[in-house]
Formats: sequence, structure tokens, C-alpha cells
Amino acid sequence: MLFSPQQYAIPDRRGLPFIDPDEIRAMLLHGDGASTDRIREVVDRSLALNRLSLQETAILLGVRSPRARKMVLEAARELKYRIYGRRIVIFAPLYAGNRCTNNCSYCGFRASNTEAVRMTLTEEQLRAQVAELEVQGQRRLILVYGEAPEYSPEYIASTVRTIYDVHGSGGGINRVNINAAPMDVEGFRTVREAGIGTYQIFQESYDRQIYARCHPSGRKRDYDYRLTAFDRAMEAGIDDVGLGALIGLGDWRFEAMGLVRHANHLEACFGVGPHTISFPRIRKASGVIFPEATAVADDDFMLLVAVLRLAVPYTGLILTAREPDTLRDRLIEFGVSQIDAGTRLEIGGYTSTSEGQELHREQFEQMDTRSLEEAVSRLIDAGQIPSFCTACYRKGRTGEHFMKFSTSGSIHRFCTPNALFTLAEYLEDHAPDELRARGWRLIESHLAGVDPSLRPTATEALAAIRAGKRDILL
Ligand code: SAM
Ligand code: SF4
Repeated sequence: MLFSPQQYAIPDRRGLPFIDPDEIRAMLLHGDGASTDRIREVVDRSLALNRLSLQETAILLGVRSPRARKMVLEAARELKYRIYGRRIVIFAPLYAGNRCTNNCSYCGFRASNTEAVRMTLTEEQLRAQVAELEVQGQRRLILVYGEAPEYSPEYIASTVRTIYDVHGSGGGINRVNINAAPMDVEGFRTVREAGIGTYQIFQESYDRQIYARCHPSGRKRDYDYRLTAFDRAMEAGIDDVGLGALIGLGDWRFEAMGLVRHANHLEACFGVGPHTISFPRIRKASGVIFPEATAVADDDFMLLVAVLRLAVPYTGLILTAREPDTLRDRLIEFGVSQIDAGTRLEIGGYTSTSEGQELHREQFEQMDTRSLEEAVSRLIDAGQIPSFCTACYRKGRTGEHFMKFSTSGSIHRFCTPNALFTLAEYLEDHAPDELRARGWRLIESHLAGVDPSLRPTATEALAAIRAGKRDILL
């Protein structure tokens, strides 16, 4: 028995166990080393825009030969461009506070780490961080918290409201996502009412034994309470959720299967899959020694991303600044749709003048330390469209509506022009002359690819943005 359906008052089939380790291991074993023909068959099914079954996902995760791996990566690239085009959505994380009662073995914020500098932003400090992020050109944030009684749903809701309320000279934040400890249904209702975008939380490991080893004390010890967080969030009306697993705690293939299984569970029970999946890879952290960490090689990590792209074509994939810039630049090609940029992990870091990283002030070591401007510049050089778009959230295209929107092929039709508009605004308001000129050339080149029926509207909107109009969205 994995967990009791009654335990967290989740009714009927929603409470049924959905991570069966034996089933996952059997599928991985069966999928391992499949023939090239079988791998090609699975890849083709994905390219025909079918969701892959767990068995098919296991086949792709078991691909070993460099040739077959290349086939999977190329397919992920093709699928990504077909569905998402060349847009990369940009956001910034904002750490609100790092007090924590848990003892996650991998995290610099764990309660037993006496080296960690503890801090919770006051309302005034929070406003100052947001004002600076707006000046830099950010439009989407993810607020991050430790797990402590003071980070109650009411507190979280108040921080979200504060952020929406800041409208400095740089514009405003249009979407606030949160990454916070699991709540009860009432708690989720409280944060939903504050207008959160995505509720994100990572299971860390879907392997119960590894999970138990890495979470020796604190509320987070309870695997099931975490695993069922999205069920309660959905019950509370939050239909936009982000899954994740911390890659490196256990077998990365098992975690990938856990993620896909979790996505299937949400879709089967609520008719809505996750909006995003994250796959943070473990990094060095203050005073952390990892007896259980099994370093995941870059090649395996790339395969993981490509397989997720093929397995859940309509789910956004997030790659964070935990990865070095060169790898991030490559992985964008193979399925990633969202990145953070200009990230500062230190609490209060966006207004701090300190240059380097100090591990005891941060949750883990950040590898990509480029500024937002540098990241935008690099994307433009690579022919990608940096997007600050929040149109779906603001137009109510979330959850089931977003799923319909995305599967009907509207992503290309609306998202590309919206991305171009937000990039144009960024260039006009935040970029130096040379970057602005390069960015506008990119916009012009992508305008030709906009759906012909929307091209005149898009051309007009872009001219209006050049003339000073703002906040245009389709
Ligand atoms: N405290 C909340 C929780 O644990 O759910 C919020 C999340 S925590 C601040 C954000 C995520 O960072 C964790 O869920 C974990 O996956 C990841 N993380 C923690 N330590 C890490 C490390 N050393 N390297 C990379 N990611 C790490
Ligand atoms: Fe606390 Fe989250 Fe870090 Fe665990 S991962 S120690 S819960 S901040």
C-alpha cells in the first residue's frame, strides 16, 4: 500500500496510489536497449503529436547508442520548433525568505545548517527587489520560500499581492508564480485568491526510500503529503501547476518516469496536465556532503530533457541557472521552453552590490550568472525570441483552457506575435542601442513566420510599440 486515500481527505480515485516503483522499474528494464526500429516507431508517434505512454517513455530513456540518442535529440528539437517555435519564456526567481524547519540533505537552507544567513524580506525590501526587477525588464517572477510557520498561506498571499502592487518606473510584474511548501486545500484557496500564476513544487525524488533518506526530519519527511499537493491545489481551483524532481538524488531514469506518471495522474483525475516540468540538477550547497548523490552526466541530462519533450509535448520545460550557460544554450534547442535569467539567489540580491556568490547566503551554487541583458543578447544571436509574455494567464487561458488552446495549435498563432510584442517592449524600454537594433532585426525576421491572418495586426502592433504604446496582447 503506497498511501491511504483517506489520509488527506482526497476522494475516490484521486487518492489512489499512482507511483508504483515496481511497475516503473519493470518498464525501465523492459525498455532498456530497444531496437532502433522500435525507438524510431516511438519517436514517430511523438512527432505525430501523440502523448507517449509510460512504456514508450521507458524505451526512449533506455536509449544507449550515440546514434539512437542523436535520433531522440533531433526529434525533440523538431517537435519543440513545431509546437513552440523559437520562443523562450523568461522569468526571474525571487527568494522571499529562507527560514526552514526541514532538513533536506542537499539544501543550504536546511534547519541544521548553522552557517546559513537567515532572512525574510520585509514588505519594503520586497518592494525594492521588485522595483529593481522591473527596471531590468522582468515581467514574470517565481517567489520562493523555505518551509516555516511564518510562511503561512496568508503570508504568501500577502507577498504575491505586494508584488502585483509595485508599479515602478520599469513597468509592472504581470505574473507571479510561487514555489512553496505543500498546503491544505484551504491554504491553496488563500494563495489562489491572491492571483498566483503557477503553483510549483518539486517531489525531489519519486523513489520513496531515497526520499526518506534525504528528508530525515521536518514536515517534508511526509512523501505522501508532498505527492498529493497538486491534487489539493486542483481541488482548491489552482489549475496551473508545475512538477519537478531534483535530478541526482537517485536514478534519473526513475525520476523521469515519476514525472511523466505524475503528469498522467493529474490529467486523468482533473483533465489538466501540469503547465510545466522542472528537472533541477543538484549543485553544491552550503556545508552539504552528498553520500547519496549520483552525479548525472551532461549527456544523460540532455537525453532526459529530450525524452520529456517527446513524452509530454504540450507541457512547458523549465531549465534554470543551476546549469552552466553553455549547456543552457544547447539545451534550449532540445525542448526547453522557459529559463530564468538575470537570476540572483541571495535574498535581497537584486539590490545588492556584492559581485560573487557566497554559498552560506544562497540555497545552492548558481552556474549561469549572466545578467538578463546578456541572456537576451545570447538568445537573439541564436535566433531565439526571448519572451516576457503573460497573455495566457491574463486572458484566462490556464488549466483546461490552456490545454485546449495549446493542443488546437494556437500556440504558434498567438504566442509568437505576443512574444514579439513583449520583446519589442523590452528592447524599447530596457536595451542599449546596439542590442535594440539587433533585436528589431530578429523581430522583423520572425514577423514573416507569423500566421498570415494575424500578420497585419502584428505589424501594426509593433509599430505602435515603437511609437510608445505598451501592453499589447492577443
Ligand atoms: N522550501 C520549499 C520546498 O522545499 O518545497 C521551496 C523549494 S526550494 C526553496 C526550491 C527547490 O530547490 C527545491 O525543491 C529543490 O528541488 C531545489 N534545491 C534544493 N537544494 C538544491 C541544490 N543543492 N541544488 C539544486 N537544487 C536544489
Ligand atoms: Fe527547506 Fe525547501 Fe531547502 Fe528543504 S529544499 S531545506 S524545505 S528550503
